[in-house]
Order: sequence, then structure tokens, then C-alpha cells
Amino acid sequence: MNTLPRSITLNFRSDNVGTVSPEILRAVEAANRDPAASYGDDQYSAAVNRAFSTLFETEVAVFPVATGTAANALSLSCCARPWGAIYCHQEAHVHTSEAGATEFYSGGAKLLALPGADYQLDPATLRETLATAERGIRNRSQPDAVTITQATEYGTVYRLDGIAAIGAIARDAGLRFHMDGARFANALAKLDCTPADMTWRRGVDILSFGATKNGGMNADAIVVFDPDLVEPLSYRLRRAGQTWSKMRFAAAQLLAYVEDGLYLRLARRANALAARIGRELGALPGVELVAPVDANMLFVRMPDRAIEAIAAAGARYGRRRGGVIRLVTRFDMDEAEAEILLELVRGALD
Ligand SMILES: *Cc1c(COP(=O)(O)O)cnc(C)c1O
Repeated sequence: MNTLPRSITLNFRSDNVGTVSPEILRAVEAANRDPAASYGDDQYSAAVNRAFSTLFETEVAVFPVATGTAANALSLSCCARPWGAIYCHQEAHVHTSEAGATEFYSGGAKLLALPGADYQLDPATLRETLATAERGIRNRSQPDAVTITQATEYGTVYRLDGIAAIGAIARDAGLRFHMDGARFANALAKLDCTPADMTWRRGVDILSFGATKNGGMNADAIVVFDPDLVEPLSYRLRRAGQTWSKMRFAAAQLLAYVEDGLYLRLARRANALAARIGRELGALPGVELVAPVDANMLFVRMPDRAIEAIAAAGARYGRRRGGVIRLVTRFDMDEAEAEILLELVRGALD
């Protein structure tokens, strides 16, 4: 509203409405001094591979990409044959929100969507589904891969034993294991573990590593743990137009993002705001948090008059089914935004 300071926008729509963190903007500027080799043969791209190998405590290959959809679809295209099946949760972004990108880039692999509480793939359901998969029957898609989202589309976070359980099933069934980490940092901040513990040590072969939603400008990355996937991925990226000629500017963003734990500091701020809003909203009569607030998203059911009050004040939020709205917090939000939101809801319910 026009009476609010410019930075107080009450924009809870998504985390990609956020600004670029100043550290990342400065890193792009710093990479702009001299010419450099193209297509990832530059010093920044080499440094990203080193920095991420240190961060993940194992040798990884990092491929910057423009979007999370590219990261997911191209990762999965290396994990499944055109006649393969990829198991995912029925609310997975790859299944609901990417216009069939995985099916397209894989040449037709089938996403098989499974139910599960809190938008999390249930290991038992996965195991049962695999037990009835008809391997070697030409009429059936053949089990090739499984993908989970961490943090999930519902703002929940898989615990390490849950990831390990899916990783073990994948290993025993010969499936590749992909993680959609569009909100990787928010999940990691919640679990307070190492990146290695949340990924390859639990069986993850390839990771879509989000940065854009948490202070990046326009670069996400694919982090490859399984060396067999590196070569096919590099050709698939080129074919998909994801091999940036001025790769160094994407690499510079990713370097700054992980340097000195910036990504975690940004995610912790977003998570802390969500936790605070969750605590205070959840204590109000007639307000219900319909999902655990593990990361930086809240799904809230509240009376129409409360929703109308925040809408009238210009607040942006995601509308969901059945009177439930989605609120997303960000690293660059002011504490005052949370306070104003809470005041508006309290005022409406008085
Ligand atoms: C935002 C998001 C993505 C990536 O979306 P793009 O719009 O392609 O960048 C992928 N997975 C999840 C769970 C997301 O929320």
C-alpha cells in the first residue's frame, strides 16, 4: 500500500518474486572485468566444480542451468529410458507444473505419480508399486528412476531416514535416484545436517540444486554424484540449449551463493519468518495450519474475513483449494511484513 515503506510489499506469492542477494549481484559484477573462455571453460566454472566438491565432500560435476524445470527434466532424462518409468509423488512439481518437460526430454519416459502424506513419497508405497511392476514385459513401462522434492511442494521436509529408505529401495531395484532441490537450502537449514548427508550418503545420484528462489539471479544447477551420468548429461544440456556461452556469469552466482554458507544464511532467514508466522497464526482461533511448517512455506486455512482483510491490504499469496492459502517467505523479507500480516489477521478475527 502507498503508506508502507517501499520494501514492505506483503508479497507472499512465491519465493521467486524476491530480489537478488547483494553478494550475488556483486559477484556478477566482479566477473565482468575481463573476457573469459566460453561454454564453461572459464575459471569461475572450474571454481564452481571445486567449491561444490568441497561442499558435498565428494567429487561432483556441476552444470548451471537457467531454470529448475531444465534441471529436473534434463537430470531425469539421463536416468530413464524412453520406455522407462519414473516414480514421483502425485503433487511433484515435475508431474504437475512442468508441462511434460521430463517426458519430452527423456523421449517419452512415463512419470508414475504415487500418493503420500504431506506431499512426501511413502517408501512402503514405492516398494509395493515396484513389487508389482512387470519387468521385461514389453507392454509396460520399465522401472528406471525415482524422484523426490526436498523441501516438498507443501513446505515439508523429508527426514534423513526417509531419504535413506527411498535410496535403499532405489538401489535394490536398480533405479536412479533424483532429488528436486528447488528449495534445497531451506530443507538443509531445517535438518541442520551436511549437504552430503541429505544427498549421496542417502543414495541420491543427481540433484537439481536451486538458487534462484533463495537469492540467486537466474541460475540453478545440476549436481551430479554418479560419474556415469556426466557425459550423457553434457550432451543433453547442449541439445536443450542449456550450455550457456557466457557460463561464467551463472558460475559466479553459484559460487557466491555457497561461499561462506551464504545460501544457508538466506534460507534460515526465510525459514525463521515462516516459523514465526506459523506459530502466531496457528495460535489464533479459526486458523489452521494444514501442513507442518518445516521450511519457508505455509498452507493456512482461515476464515474468509481474514483472507479478505489481507487481500484488501494488498497482500499477495497463493490461492489454494478449500479456503487454504499458501504463504511463502523469503530471505529479503522484513520482519515488519510478518507483523503487518499477523496484525491484519488478528484484526479481522477480533
Ligand atoms: C520452482 C520450482 C521448480 C523450478 O521451477 P522453474 O520455474 O522452472 O524455475 C522446481 N521444483 C519445485 C518444487 C519448485 O517449487
